[in-house]
This record gives sequence, structure tokens and C-alpha cells, in this order.
Amino acid sequence: MKKVYLDNAATTAVRPEVVQEMIKVLAEDYGNPSSTHSFGRSAKVLLETARKSIAKQLNANAQEIIFTSCGTEADNWIIRSAVRDLGVTRIITSKIEHHAVLYAVAAVQKEYAVAVDYVSILPNGEIDYTHLSDLLAQDKKTLVSLMHVNNEIGTVLDLERTGRICKQYGAYFHSDTVQSVGKTTFDLQTLPVDFIVGSAHKFHGPKGAGFAFIRKNTGIQPLFFGGEQEKGLRAGTEAVHQIAGMAKALELSYANLEAEQQHITDLKNYLIAALKEAFPETGINGSEKGFYNIVNVLLPFSDDKTAMILFNLDMKGIAVSRGSACQSGSIKPSHVLAEILSDEAIKKPSLRISLGHDNTKEDIDLFVEALKAV
Ligand code: PLP
Repeated sequence: MKKVYLDNAATTAVRPEVVQEMIKVLAEDYGNPSSTHSFGRSAKVLLETARKSIAKQLNANAQEIIFTSCGTEADNWIIRSAVRDLGVTRIITSKIEHHAVLYAVAAVQKEYAVAVDYVSILPNGEIDYTHLSDLLAQDKKTLVSLMHVNNEIGTVLDLERTGRICKQYGAYFHSDTVQSVGKTTFDLQTLPVDFIVGSAHKFHGPKGAGFAFIRKNTGIQPLFFGGEQEKGLRAGTEAVHQIAGMAKALELSYANLEAEQQHITDLKNYLIAALKEAFPETGINGSEKGFYNIVNVLLPFSDDKTAMILFNLDMKGIAVSRGSACQSGSIKPSHVLAEILSDEAIKKPSLRISLGHDNTKEDIDLFVEALKAV
């Protein structure tokens, strides 16, 4: 049976070149980058080369890239330090953020006297920019935390526009860019953001490696304390093989971006057309203009079929997601879909299909055939 992986927003297959790079580092470069002897110095060179490479891909300065264990850690760090160390007294975010942001915000709200405002979401899943400006017009030291590409419905935030609004009102701007790093270009020299984050396993790198971009001189302080790694901003011996793998993965993502973006866009169009042909009542959750690798569809299936869809697909070796990865198997509706769908529509089955460069039209055909057989 051919297995079909259509869950690339949950995680991605590691590129073979990345595996090779990581094996080499694991086998040959096991020094601790903080050691001063030759083994340590070799590991340090790998670490700093990876930092420079990631910075170059995003047009940032190398010292603005701080390695973390994942995207969740980077999001938590920035949100917590903004409140604790930068004098932020109010956070503006949205109810359709990933839980790495939503729950981090809820935690600091409980621990510190910080106000939280939620910017309105339009029915197509985009934020209401006028509402954001209205909220920012209140004179409070603010961190705006809004995600770039929504992991469930693929809606895209205009980073440039949001950043300009934040600047106008003197607010810090953090964007959870976990779904877009490696999948679209960034010019951090000109983009008006203070903080973004990346996670290697979303761009065909290893799990357990991520980074934060912290713009120079923002005053962010560490989340935890120990050694002097990462200039004291993130204590703990760096996972050199993971970081080298992450840098390699990002390099390859950008080297192949144009061709892969085109291939995935074509597949997305093919998928939507095939679904609409098979099930003419199919709806798209969010915007048709969403990010090129994510489609969230509302299927016109009867109640009795709804519960069985994922199970049936899984039996046929087809992996898609209901809501976000962390929620598959849960009977709670997705918090993102709950914000944009009617009570009636939320009861119908919605599936997130997220594509990668390895997918083919045959994968889509197998998926649609399997749905028809449910
Ligand atoms: N933010 C978004 C938008 C995500 O999609 C994810 C992963 O699902 C995360 C944050 C968390 O990233 P990580 O798995 O690296 O902790």
C-alpha cells in the first residue's frame, strides 16, 4: 500500500542531505562548543557557521539569531521576557494563534498584571487591521503577537503592514513565523518586526531545533539560567548536530524555493478542483488566497460519516489532520475554526491538508478516491 503524507504543517520529512549532515556532525564533531580545546573549537565553528547561514537566508545579523529547542520555546521566551523585562503592560494577540502563543499569553496574564486584548478576526480568517489600530491607539506599552501563516487555515498576515502599524504606535511586534520560515522569503533588515521564530521540523529539518530572531538592542533577557551559551540568552549546551541540520535544511529550502513553491501551488489548485468535482458542496475554511501549502476544507458529509473520516483515511495509509496536530483525536472543535465558522458548520467535518514538495498528483488522487469511499 502506498502511504500518502498530507500533513506537512504538522511536521515534514527530513531531507536526505540534512540527515547526512547530521550524521557527520554526530559522528565526527562531538566536542562541546563551549570547550576551548580543538574538539570544542570545531563544534563552535559549526555552530557559528550555522548561525551565519540562517542569518544570511533571512537577511539578519548573525548575533540576532538565538538557537532554541523549538518554536514553542522561542514564542514563550519572547512573550514572557517582553512582559517581565521590557515593561510591556498589554499584549494584543488573536484567538486563532497557535497554543504556543495563546497559552504563553494566558500564563503571563495570570502571573503578571498584564492586560490582553484580542484583535477581531474577519470571516475569512484574516485580522481586522482597523481594529488593531484602534486598540493600539490606547496609550499602553504593548507587545503585538500575531502569527504570519495560520497553521490550521493558512491565512497570511501582512507582516509589512502590521509592523508599520506597530511602529506608528511604538509597540513591539512579535510574529510566530513557524509555518512560513523556509517557505517564503524574509528580509529582516527591512521588515518592521522585532521578533520572529523558526522551527526546523517544519522546513524538512530535525525536530528539537528552533531559533528566535531577536532584533538588536531590544533588551530581551533569558528564560532560564546556567551557562554562557548563546551570549547568556539561552543557557544549555547547544545541540550542534540539530542546529547544523536546521541550517542545512533552511539553506536547501531557499535554494529550491521557487520550483517547490510552484509545484506545491499547482498541487493545491489540483486538490481544490478535484475535491469540488467529487463533492460540489465542498467549502474552504479561511481564505481561498491562503498560504500555498495549506488547505482547510469543510466537507458536505452526513453526521454518520463524520466520525469515521480520519479513521478511514488512516486505514488506507493517508495522513491528513483535523484541526491542528495537537488536537487530532480530540473531540473538541478546533479553536481556530470555532472563531470563523457558524455553529452549524463547525459540526461538519473539516480537514486540513498540508502539502510538501514530495507530494504528487497521484497522492491527491488517492486521497480524493479514499474520501469518496468513506
Ligand atoms: N507555532 C505554529 C504556528 C506552529 O504550527 C507550531 C507547530 O505546530 C508551533 C508554533 C510550535 O512549534 P514547535 O513544534 O517547534 O514547538
